[in-house]
Amino acid sequence: MPLRAARLEGFGTTIFTEVTALAQRTGAINLGQGFPDTDGPTEVIDAAVAALRSGQNQYAPLAGVQALREAVLEHQRAYYGLEPEDVLVTFGATEAIAAALLGLVNPGDEVVVLEPYYDSYSACIAFAGARRRPVTLRPPQFALDPDALDAAAGPRARVMLLNTPHNPTGRVLDRASMEAVARVCVEHDLVCISDEVYEYLVYDGEHIPIATLPGMAQRTLTISSVGKSFSVTGWKVGWCSGPTELVAAVRDVKQFLTFAGGTPLQHAAAAALRLPPVHLEALCHDLRTKRDLLCAGLTEAGLRPLSPAGTYFINADVGTDAVEFCRSLPERCGVAAIPTSVFYDDADAARTLARFAFCKREDVIAEAARRLAAPSPTS
Ligand code: PMP
Ligand code: GLN
Repeated sequence: MPLRAARLEGFGTTIFTEVTALAQRTGAINLGQGFPDTDGPTEVIDAAVAALRSGQNQYAPLAGVQALREAVLEHQRAYYGLEPEDVLVTFGATEAIAAALLGLVNPGDEVVVLEPYYDSYSACIAFAGARRRPVTLRPPQFALDPDALDAAAGPRARVMLLNTPHNPTGRVLDRASMEAVARVCVEHDLVCISDEVYEYLVYDGEHIPIATLPGMAQRTLTISSVGKSFSVTGWKVGWCSGPTELVAAVRDVKQFLTFAGGTPLQHAAAAALRLPPVHLEALCHDLRTKRDLLCAGLTEAGLRPLSPAGTYFINADVGTDAVEFCRSLPERCGVAAIPTSVFYDDADAARTLARFAFCKREDVIAEAARRLAAPSPTS
């Protein structure tokens, strides 16, 4: 008898775990998994220490620490003019995504999703017994084709799982694309689960929360987390906000997944969200510089980077099969990256693209660029 449940079929170790282990084994600079190599603001770290020291160490309420829930509501109001009816704190955006799919999708339903997609999407859609209907973003522009979007929303479609700024392409959907998404959601009566964890990591253009578009606030569950905006990816404090009924469905699942978690870090996340906007502006400025540095290094190394408008990631055309390229890159050059095709159902759409994370110190990026350039990584 097989010991593993059938639903795990095709969902082995994630590419992030694999590439990080490979980088550790070979001593390569890890530009695979996206996490910063510097800490977030001192005020945020200090707030976590203060919470730990002041006895905030027992279960948080199921809905989350009140200070953080209020901070999320204030944030949505102040930054975007949104007035969500409810907010739930989760164990990272990852838990919010999983619980939302389990709580909002029935077996046999279809989920419209942009591909390439963040890996947990496909697993959680499958765990919910649903089917994904990918809408393919193709290099070099990764543009969203409204007709393809419309065609993907068939009679069984129930949810639009949206991600902008988009991992792994780095694309930030513009207003016309967002309007196309909203139109499809309204016309097909879809619930939108909107993953906005990179909301502040935008270097060109602007982040437009889908809930701000007409007809969308009442059908959108907005998800974000503290990890990217404050450079604390290991904290795993996330949240979702939106209409009472949507948040309640997520809460009803979450209570049986983790119930609650990370009480002191929830307090610190509240402090983070209340920092003056200058912190987020500085982070964005810093990451834009790093993006440009790595783009220049990749070009110098003979690769063809597609400069991203947002996120932590640059996709570069490596001129050959990127799966093979990435497999041998750590040994060959001492750098680790991820083949972008692993995030597509249609692997041919990005056969020669590799994803490089630039959320690293400038000296680390410079060293990675030096390694990639000598000898030629394609040789
Ligand atoms: N969504 C996307 C698009 C991501 O790239 C990530 C990864 N870090 C997550 C969700 C997960 O966020 P968290 O670490 O808060 O669980
Ligand atoms: N979001 C990160 C990335 O895309 C990885 C998170 C993870 O390891 N699951 O690199």
